[in-house]
Amino acid sequence: MTRQFRGIGVSPGVAWGPALVIRWDFPEVPDRTVRVDQVENEMRRLREAVDYVVSHLRELGERVLQRAGPEESRIFDAQILMAEDEDFLASVETLIRNNQLSAETAYEFKALELRALWSGAARLRERLADLHAIQMRMIHCLMGGGTEAEVWSVPADEQVIIVAHELSPGLTVQLDREHVVGLISEEGTRTSHAAILAHSLGIPAVMGAAGVLAGIPNGTVLLLDGQSGTILLDPTEDEMEQARVQLSRRHKLELQLEAVVGEPAVTPSGRAITLMGNVDLPEEIETANRHGAEGVGLLRTEFLLTGRARLPTEDEQTDYFRRVARAFPRKPIIIRSFDLGGDKFPAAFKAPVEANPFLGWRSIRVCLDEPAVFRPQVRAVLRAALGHDIQLMLPLVTTVQEVRDAIDIMAEEAKALKEAGIRAAESVPVGVMIETPAAVIMADRLAEVSAFFSVGTNDLTQYTMAVDRGNARLANRFNPHDPSVVRQLHQVLEVGRGAGLPVSVCGEMASEPLSAVLLIGLGYERLSVSPPALPLVKWVVRTIPEDAARQAASAALGAADAAEVSAVLREAVGQHIDLRLLDPQSALPGRGRAATLPPGKTNVQ
Ligand code: PEP
Ligand code: MG
Repeated sequence: MTRQFRGIGVSPGVAWGPALVIRWDFPEVPDRTVRVDQVENEMRRLREAVDYVVSHLRELGERVLQRAGPEESRIFDAQILMAEDEDFLASVETLIRNNQLSAETAYEFKALELRALWSGAARLRERLADLHAIQMRMIHCLMGGGTEAEVWSVPADEQVIIVAHELSPGLTVQLDREHVVGLISEEGTRTSHAAILAHSLGIPAVMGAAGVLAGIPNGTVLLLDGQSGTILLDPTEDEMEQARVQLSRRHKLELQLEAVVGEPAVTPSGRAITLMGNVDLPEEIETANRHGAEGVGLLRTEFLLTGRARLPTEDEQTDYFRRVARAFPRKPIIIRSFDLGGDKFPAAFKAPVEANPFLGWRSIRVCLDEPAVFRPQVRAVLRAALGHDIQLMLPLVTTVQEVRDAIDIMAEEAKALKEAGIRAAESVPVGVMIETPAAVIMADRLAEVSAFFSVGTNDLTQYTMAVDRGNARLANRFNPHDPSVVRQLHQVLEVGRGAGLPVSVCGEMASEPLSAVLLIGLGYERLSVSPPALPLVKWVVRTIPEDAARQAASAALGAADAAEVSAVLREAVGQHIDLRLLDPQSALPGRGRAATLPPGKTNVQ
């Protein structure tokens, strides 16, 4: 049996504990018929199972409400709606009645039908995972297997490491940090939204770990390093000891980092760098604040929608935006309009089936085409902006007209609010995410209609290199150090600066210390980073002389490939910082090169 697996370290920290293997497969359901006089009983069993599953979902919702907030807990609304879907349940009852089938046999039959219907549609992937989870709980319950605990619910008295084929953002947001100390999945990469959420929640995670489902028996004790992406099965006492030693080294680094939290982010020669936070979930507001974020450079708003049964109201959004703004008095809050599509599909929303969702109807395109989605959000932004430095950022812009249209919509909504006597700002600065090659090429014309630029290097890398950012198999080919991306970063800054616009980077690369040095060397003065990474990036800013960063960036612009860029950066940074601190060896013994994500806020255990 393999003792070690490797994947991509997507959320740092070391964890150990027994594996809880989640198999997203239905249990074997025997074809069972019942006597005519038992038909009513089967119908009753079906309804009892629904009640049971729904009450369990409500409990989960409550739990999430306590630990995260109302927005996250609403993720269960959609699941409850699916579980209670009357049309579906009526079709199961008809099958029980007409064919004298047992409740589980009939339910499975209809469940498979529904899944087949949905599974053809890429856009329903996230919803399918939710549906799958509910149906499995139902069948387990009907088969007397007890609760969904057997499927994926975590035992309350244990701390486990979840092993799954794929982790959806919906599942990740539901995980209870007290009991789930680590996550492992076969699918996914560092920029998958589930990975970003795991990072935000501070749960060490390894994704893209091929073969774990077949290779890790349930209950096996695992030692997981969310930084290096390594997983060790049944660690020996020696190996555990080595892991503890590594952990304590990392802990010392974290203490060092804590010391810089209150210090300004200035380079050794005194240039101020504005370090803001990327906030995906409400609970990150606190971390960003604690780590001294100078505002929010990217407020992702998709969590208000993902997996939810309905669109968030204008009032809900206004409240949320105000809450974020109040947490960062007098600091900019850059709200990104809904970036839907790709791998983010809200249950609340009917989108068409598409062959290439990442090249399809997503982001700004959806916003401009769907007034019911975009206009309440724009109104909420305007209302919350009264008295706060709130700005609006448009994702995936490819044409100047998209920006003009969004600005027109804002003007119309501002007028409507005024006419209705609702207190709101008359406008807010509207900026553009530069995350497509088209936007880079058109940056000079986009600058004429934009208040600021923010480079989304996750998508810019994806669209430049034609590499799916979520495809684990291509993870080695997804690299923002590729000179094609570096040159665009240079170009955008030159153009934006020439037009007098603030230009920042909010893609994940800004959270990675070597890349942050590259960006500073290119001349960027505004970075928006994942909140746990703020202290490390600040420490690097304060430590690496600008000259060294500039020389490295200039060499990177002339480099032939990503490996050369990374080597140049390591060489430059290595003169001033022990690279092992940035890129520590795996906490697991003898396991090669570490991944490049910075250490997080805490290590588990
Ligand atoms: C990006 O693409 O770099 C970005 C910041 O946006 P997201 O990761 O949400 O697509
Ligand atoms: Mg993006």
